[in-house]
Amino acid sequence: MEAKAKTSKPTAEKSTTKTPAKKSAAKDLMDLFEDSLKDIYWAEKALAKALPKMQKNATDEKLQSAIENHIVETEEHIVRLEQCFEALGKKAQAKKCDAMQGLLDEGKSIMEETEPGAVRDSGIVAAAQKVEHYEIATYGTLAAFAKVLKEDECMNILLMTLNEEKNCNELLTKLADTNINSQAVEA
Ligand code: FE
Ligand code: FE
Repeated sequence: MEAKAKTSKPTAEKSTTKTPAKKSAAKDLMDLFEDSLKDIYWAEKALAKALPKMQKNATDEKLQSAIENHIVETEEHIVRLEQCFEALGKKAQAKKCDAMQGLLDEGKSIMEETEPGAVRDSGIVAAAQKVEHYEIATYGTLAAFAKVLKEDECMNILLMTLNEEKNCNELLTKLADTNINSQAVEA
């Protein structure tokens, strides 16, 4: 039955059927909250490893220093997530985040597909902003979960990080709009 379902074409009826849950599925919102923390913990660690490469590939000095600054912040985001786990009385655990992996893969290919200089810089900003938007969505959701779960310590920690992600994204927008994109268009 199962094999047959996999090979047959999806029908309108099937696409409206609810997805069956795995055995390991979250039991409640607290479970989902913890799972999501494990995801973003992995994501931040992967990002901390990827950012130095993006920084080295950047040519614009302001972009280089913006990324350098965010490497320091990202290390702090990792520490804050560990504080969140601790506040919940849980061991900090990382679970592979496919979304962040995809975003970082995309960033890598943007660098491979451009010559170093203004155009690559525009690509780096684009890739970095997709990452920041992902983080903004994630931390916004996590802070909202923490709020309803009455996990105030977690909520405050998550909101601090959310603000830094938003500031980083705004700085990237500013750099792109004031200089990087216009240089790229002339390159
Ligand atoms: Fe972060
Ligand atoms: Fe970030």
